[in-house]
Amino acid sequence: MSKILLVEDSRTQALTYTRVLEEDGHTVEHVTTVAEGVEACIERTPDLVLLDYYLAEGSGVDLCSRLKMDEMLQIIPVIVLTASRRKEDEIKALSLGADAFLSKDCSDQELLAMTSRLVESAIIKASARMQSGSASLAWARVLLIDDSRVYLEQLGHDVTKAGFQVTKAQSGPEALGLLDETNFDIAVCDIVMPDMDGFEVCRRLRKWALEHQWQMGLLVLSGKESKDMLIQSLSAGADDFISKSASTKVLIAHIVALARRIGMVREIQSMNEKVVQHELELEKARWKQEQAEERARFAEELERSNRELEQFGYIISHDLQAPLRTISSFCQLLAKRNADKLDDDSQTWMSHVVDGTTRMKTLIDELLKYSRVKKSDEPPEDVDLAEAVDLAVNSLHAEIEASGATVTHTGLPSLPANRMQINQLFQNLIGNALKYRAERTPEVGISAEQSSPTDGGEWIVSVRDNGIGIDPQHSERIFQVFQRLHTEKEYRGTGIGLAICKKTVELHGGRIWVESESGQGSVFYFTIPMSGDGSV
Ligand code: ADP
Repeated sequence: MSKILLVEDSRTQALTYTRVLEEDGHTVEHVTTVAEGVEACIERTPDLVLLDYYLAEGSGVDLCSRLKMDEMLQIIPVIVLTASRRKEDEIKALSLGADAFLSKDCSDQELLAMTSRLVESAIIKASARMQSGSASLAWARVLLIDDSRVYLEQLGHDVTKAGFQVTKAQSGPEALGLLDETNFDIAVCDIVMPDMDGFEVCRRLRKWALEHQWQMGLLVLSGKESKDMLIQSLSAGADDFISKSASTKVLIAHIVALARRIGMVREIQSMNEKVVQHELELEKARWKQEQAEERARFAEELERSNRELEQFGYIISHDLQAPLRTISSFCQLLAKRNADKLDDDSQTWMSHVVDGTTRMKTLIDELLKYSRVKKSDEPPEDVDLAEAVDLAVNSLHAEIEASGATVTHTGLPSLPANRMQINQLFQNLIGNALKYRAERTPEVGISAEQSSPTDGGEWIVSVRDNGIGIDPQHSERIFQVFQRLHTEKEYRGTGIGLAICKKTVELHGGRIWVESESGQGSVFYFTIPMSGDGSV
C-alpha cells in the first residue's frame, strides 16, 4: 500500500501506530526526531508523514513547516497527532500546513480512513503536476505588454518555453481590455509605449488587482536602467524592475521568482482561510457541545426536582391523613357522647365538620394516587388495549348497568406500555364518559388509528361519548390537578382523574387532549408511541 513515515518519540505509541498501519497493509518507517524526519523525507519521499506534535527534541510542527516550504516535498500529506485538546495547537498545526490534525485517542478506523484519504488526494495532486509538465509554475498566466512586435514575439516564445501560459498585448489599452476575460497572475510591461506609458499601465493594473482582491505580480521592462526609473516603477505599483538589455534567462528568472512569491502568498492566504474556517467549525462544535451539556444539565435538574416534588406530594398526603383521622373521630365522638346536650344547629355543624374531613380524606387519597403514578423500573410490556378496555368495563359494571350505557371498542392494538397505568387510564376516561352523561342513554366508543410513518407512526386512541360535552375554553384546564367544571353537588369528583391520565400518557411519551363542544359529547384522544423506549 503506502510508505508512511512515523515521527514519534514514544516507543510504545510508535509500536501501536506501526501495528495498526502495517495490519492495514502499509509499510512504516519510524524515526524519533525532526532532523531524522527531514532526512527521511528528502531521501525516501514517503507517501504520508504521521507526526507527533510534541517531540522530545523540538516540535513536530517544525518538520511540518519545513516540508510545506519545500517545493518538492510539500505534496507529502502530513497528519499531526496530539494528546492535547488545545485549540491553539490545532490551529498552529494547520496554519503551518498540516493536512489533518488527529487526537491520539482517535480510533484505529479514524486514523486509517484519514491516512488513505490523504494519500489518495496527494496522488491526484501529484499526477496533476506531472500532467502540467515539469514546471510547477505552469499555472501562472503571464501577460506580456510591449509595442515592439518583434520583441514581444521573441519574449513570448521564451516565456512560453519556460513553462508559462502567455498572452501578448501591443499596448496598454489592449492589455487592460484583456482583464475582462482573464485574471493574469503576472504582467510584464514595457515603459516606453505610444498610447499609454508603462507606469500608467502599471498603476491601472495595480488598481484593478486591488479592486478585485487579486494577487498580481507586476514587472516593468525598460530600455535604460536608472535609479529614477526604478523608483518611478515601484511607486507606480510594480514589484520588480528589469532592464531590456538583460539576457532572457535573467528576465525569466525574475518572472519565476515573482510567480513563486505569488504562489506562496496565495498558499498562505488559502491556509489562513482554512484555519479561519477550521476555527469557525471548532467554535460551532464547541457551541453545540455546550448546548448539549446545558440541555443534559437541565434535564437532570428537571428530573431531580420532579423526584423531589413527587416525594413531597407523597409525604404531605401521607402525613396529613393522621391529624385528619383524629379530627374526624373526635368530632364523631363528641357528637355521639353529647347528642342530648347539643342543639340542632350544633349537630348540623358537627356533621358538616365530619363531611369536610371525609371530603378532605378523599382529596388526599386522590393526591396520593396522583403522586404514585411514576416511571416504572420495569421495561414496558405488550399491553392489549382491547383487554384493558374490557377490564375497565368490568370494574364500571354497576354504573353501566344503572345508566343502560353501551361501551364498544374497535381496532385497538397491543402497545409497549405499563399495564396497570393503561388500565387506570381507560377506567378514568370511560368512568368520566358515564359520569358526565346527558339526558340520552350513554354511548361510549373506543377506537384507534396509526399515524403515517413520517409522523412517527404513533397510535392515536380516542374515547368518544355522547355526554354533556365541554366548553372548548376549558379544554386544557381540565387536565390540571383539582380543576373541575362542576360543583360536588352536581357531580361527585375530585378533579384528579384527568391529571392522572395526562401524567400517565406523558410518562409513555405521548400526548392527551380533548375535542368537544358544550352539549355535543366529547372525544378524548391520547397517543402512545410505538418505540416502547422504556420511559414508562
Ligand atoms: P372529576 O371527574 O373528579 O371532576 P376529572 O379530572 O376526571 O375530575 O375531570 C375534570 C373535569 O373535566 C370534570 O370535573 C368535568 O367537568 C370535565 N370532564 C371530564 N371528563 C368529561 C367528559 N367525558 N364529559 C364532560 N366533561 C368531562
